[in-house]
Amino acid sequence: MTTSAELFELASRHIPGGVNSPVRAFKGLHRPPVFMERAQGAYLFDVEGNRYVDYVGSWGPMITGHADPDVLAAVRARLDHGLSFGTPTAIETTMADLICEMIPSIEMVRMTSSGTEATMSAIRLARGFTGRDKIVKFEGNYHGHSDSLLVKAGSGALTHGVPNSPGVPASLAEHTITLSFNDPEGVEQCFSELGDEIACIIVEPVAGNMNCIPPQADFLETLRRVCNEHGSVLIFDEVMTGFRVAMGGAQAHYAVTPDLTCLGKIVGGGMPVGAFGGKRKIMEQISPLGPVYQAGTLSGNPLAMAAGITLLTKLQVPGFHASLTQRVETLCQGLQERADAAEIPMLTQHAGGMFGVFFTAQSRVDNFAQATACDPEAFRRFFGAMLDQGVYLAPSAFEAGFMSSAHTAEDIQLTLDAAEKAFSLM
Ligand code: PLP
Repeated sequence: MTTSAELFELASRHIPGGVNSPVRAFKGLHRPPVFMERAQGAYLFDVEGNRYVDYVGSWGPMITGHADPDVLAAVRARLDHGLSFGTPTAIETTMADLICEMIPSIEMVRMTSSGTEATMSAIRLARGFTGRDKIVKFEGNYHGHSDSLLVKAGSGALTHGVPNSPGVPASLAEHTITLSFNDPEGVEQCFSELGDEIACIIVEPVAGNMNCIPPQADFLETLRRVCNEHGSVLIFDEVMTGFRVAMGGAQAHYAVTPDLTCLGKIVGGGMPVGAFGGKRKIMEQISPLGPVYQAGTLSGNPLAMAAGITLLTKLQVPGFHASLTQRVETLCQGLQERADAAEIPMLTQHAGGMFGVFFTAQSRVDNFAQATACDPEAFRRFFGAMLDQGVYLAPSAFEAGFMSSAHTAEDIQLTLDAAEKAFSLM
């Protein structure tokens, strides 16, 4: 039998850090990453035959569980038609219509192959539309790895200690203004000084790349208001929250309407897909209709569209998100009770189908400073003890957890039993 440790050693010879995305590395966790062989429903199976209840879900897309039979069947059905044509296909229109129906603020949409491309393109579009250069983002939010957005970023950039990546020209980064999440006064002040130079605000409406931090009352509303007052574009990065926090995304859940929305993860059903869309008058600036250039060899790939459309359609079952949220609440409540009983300072936060576990005595975590003040050593011990008991959590204290509809009451109970033991060992 080949072990994960052996595969990691082999991988590290020709792949930087042995991984093709830094979030997969077990940075600071004193063990090699687990190499998975297959996945089914709520479970991952590693190369050594161990089963894990999975709360990463391929970082979000697997909202109905791994290897969803309907998604696989849809992909199989298209496979023999060919992989990619580089021409328009009818299935791209089906996808666009579905997105516009599910997220009504999106009047026109362009598909991409990743979330990074979606946010990068939305920023360019906002700059082209307004004729302004400055953008506003929030500390600890992650919007993919394009240059303008790797400034005080979250996710792997934060986990690996490089929220400001070398390689991003200072002359570009200076156009990115970074404010504190959940601080409406800071936003007001920034706009009162610079508002007429700001092309856009981009925000994760629920921050999921510095653990899980929902917006405080008034935060998203303030963003909407200052953008209206100053002619700036409000971009919701719903790559993570789209179709997860609610069917219509965080914008439906919190009833705040952005001008542009970025999507990824679930919209591709597990295939490499992103999308950005919004107000028609802004989207009409995109090439070839308008002058703002954006393109992609594999954008709108028919196999990826088939997977995404099938998954999105499955979510339209009445009560899907209520039941997902219920599972998250059961998990979070159970974790809190067990941590309290073991006198471990711990806090959970959640929004729809995403959740976070913070090792802290704080009563809530609202921003980057509070998220990074949590106890990294407690997280490391908890993560390791859970993994050893067959529960796969994100290998970083700065990532949200994801629930799927495939997680049963038994899976959640297994997780809570494992947590009870983990807390007793800490
Ligand atoms: N935006 C958010 C909120 C994300 O969480 C991510 C990835 O995790 C991205 C953008 C980038 O997406 P991708 O990794 O598909 O490029």
